[in-house]
Amino acid sequence: MMRNLLHDDSPRDECGVFALYAPEMDVARLTFFALFALQHRGQESAGIAVTDGAKLIVHKEMGLVSQVFQEETLQSLPGRLAIGHVRYSTTGSSETRNAQPFARTRDGSFIALAHNGNLVNTDELRSSLLKNGHVFESTSDTEVIAALLAEHPSHDIRLALRDVVPRLRGAFSAVLLTKDEVVGFRDPYGIRPLVLGRVGDRYCLASETSGLDIIGARLVQELEPGQICVINEDGYHIDQVVDRKRSALCVFEFIYFARPDSVMKGQTLYGARSRMGRQLALESPVEADLVSPVPDTGICAATGYAAASGIPYGETLIKNRYIGRTFIDPEPQVRRLGIRMKFNPLTSAIKGKRLVMVDDSIVRGTTTRALVRVLFEAGAKEVHLRITSPPILYPCFYGIDMADQDEFIAFGKSVEEVSRELEATSVHYLSLEGLMKATGVGDEESGFCAACFTGKYPCEVPEKLRSSKFRLEHAGDVTKA
Ligand code: SF4
Repeated sequence: MMRNLLHDDSPRDECGVFALYAPEMDVARLTFFALFALQHRGQESAGIAVTDGAKLIVHKEMGLVSQVFQEETLQSLPGRLAIGHVRYSTTGSSETRNAQPFARTRDGSFIALAHNGNLVNTDELRSSLLKNGHVFESTSDTEVIAALLAEHPSHDIRLALRDVVPRLRGAFSAVLLTKDEVVGFRDPYGIRPLVLGRVGDRYCLASETSGLDIIGARLVQELEPGQICVINEDGYHIDQVVDRKRSALCVFEFIYFARPDSVMKGQTLYGARSRMGRQLALESPVEADLVSPVPDTGICAATGYAAASGIPYGETLIKNRYIGRTFIDPEPQVRRLGIRMKFNPLTSAIKGKRLVMVDDSIVRGTTTRALVRVLFEAGAKEVHLRITSPPILYPCFYGIDMADQDEFIAFGKSVEEVSRELEATSVHYLSLEGLMKATGVGDEESGFCAACFTGKYPCEVPEKLRSSKFRLEHAGDVTKA
């Protein structure tokens, strides 16, 4: 069985998208660079679609951006406009046929689509398309959106989007390519991010600002929930195609997913994560000798915790940055080796110390418990875990791979019980109020989805999708993007 043992304790990332209209530029190469900067959002497959206005070329494969696109490949992708995608998926659906972008013929021409998020009404939409004679080459919900757009009778893609987007339920930030335009569109809650950038006199779209920075683009604005943005020879044009609901950006973008150098809702994520650490120090002071991060995602918060508490900051775990994301599930006796392949303890910094270890989240607890053991074996006197999110209690239906509810370590347990199970000296989770305050944006009601902590899903989730049995039976049918 292939699974990712080394990332068991953080929710798994989602996908990254990029789109660019720039006839005078090497659009494939710029898209390659942007995807490279969005690589943290998905490491299983990568793809680029380009067009010169006459023909469409799509290149997509399993692997990292740098593995999928070499110089030769980029030179074989001439075009005036392009879209690109990096993908994370669950085990079992990780296949080339699910890699994006998806291409379809439409109105005597073509479209290509790439999507970040997860629809919650894929089954219903797919059934109606199958009845109309559509054939699907993949199990992805993105192909369902592409098929809905492909079959729409309007010649104008904007009119097609006006009809199709309101039929989609769930989380989606998508980019679309036609023969002469690129288009971005975002769900009515804005669960997944999408930003508009300007490079020279041209415009582009990216999941995060890190995808703009790398190509020298500057941020114009974040697309608002329910908007579409059409980019063509005349510049860009934004339309509100569905009524905007309350903004519900996935709060895990702030906690963990997005790069710390990205900006969302006007905040740098480095700053927000540092404030989460400060807030943790206020909520859960402890006498200790050293504040240390679980690298890399705990670093910003650990610096904040150290600054607010006055306890020195230092590294205790050295991360092997060259380890791949996928790891063959070893026998239990060699699991600890798996952890050591990724994190090696810095014994001289640990021995005899009372440690505050800062991390972003705990899902199952498998990796965290192994890390706590490694620290004690290296001579730590105490290990106090400080987590920059509240306990995860509810599954995500919007495209984030977490686990089933009964697999969450916090499900049905007190914090003390979690601490005992992790064999830590103490555990403290950041409060929801503290988390929202640290974002610098607003509270859950005004700005974020925090459903995996509260169970309050912004966009209704059909009852059958909530049942693990249904999800297991459809594991190969509905693919996370
Ligand atoms: S349920 Fe959790 S992981 Fe999913 S979108 Fe909401 S906040 Fe993000």
